[in-house]
Amino acid sequence: MSEIIEGERPSFPMRGVPQPTREEVLDLPRVHISTHPVMHHKMTALRDKNTPPPAFYRLVKEIGALLAYEATANLRLEPETIETPLQPMTGQRLAGGIGITPILRAGLGLAEGFREVISEAQVWHLGLRRDERTLQALEYYNRLPHQIDLQVAYAVDPMLATGGSAIDAINVLKRRGIPRLSYVCILAAPYGLLKLSQAHPDIDIYIAALDESLNDLGYILPGLGDAGDRQFGTF
Ligand code: URA
Repeated sequence: MSEIIEGERPSFPMRGVPQPTREEVLDLPRVHISTHPVMHHKMTALRDKNTPPPAFYRLVKEIGALLAYEATANLRLEPETIETPLQPMTGQRLAGGIGITPILRAGLGLAEGFREVISEAQVWHLGLRRDERTLQALEYYNRLPHQIDLQVAYAVDPMLATGGSAIDAINVLKRRGIPRLSYVCILAAPYGLLKLSQAHPDIDIYIAALDESLNDLGYILPGLGDAGDRQFGTF
């Protein structure tokens, strides 16, 4: 992170900050980058600057559902005895609850996509705002339950840029004693991915695509612009 001089407003917080290359972070442990052709197809439509907010939001939800499918592939199961219309049998159900934590506000569309796959998941909203001056994450809203009985919680936010809010969100969830945590995003920059992986080496990170770098303002390149504005039409 660039050095902040008291009282001075740095307009380009990432200017001059060394960034790892894409190749340098490709093999980080516990990082899962989607290779699904349908994901690539949807990502191209999502990135296109001509995709209007309603279509953009629908794509975020669809990509969220695909990411949920990938991120839940290793969940634990437990046996459950049921009766079909024809005979009794032992099936399997998910062992323990699932939590989804959208980081407000850009994480809302992704969380909706997750709920299409796991409708019984609890949704815990967490408000983190990026201080545009320092790029540090500030917590302004926290609606996490006091009683927690979960097998896993997924923090979801479309853009893993500098990693500040991602690291902060996982810190908040860890303080609640959730046994297993994953971070799910649509696009990651190598810089933010490395920071998150170093700060929290014990979590899984699921990404639809890994991009090239951050620009001086901290936006992901080639990226898709501001994921919140594009979902909610606030330009
Ligand atoms: N947040 C966004 O919405 N877009 C970026 O490129 C980086 C952070």
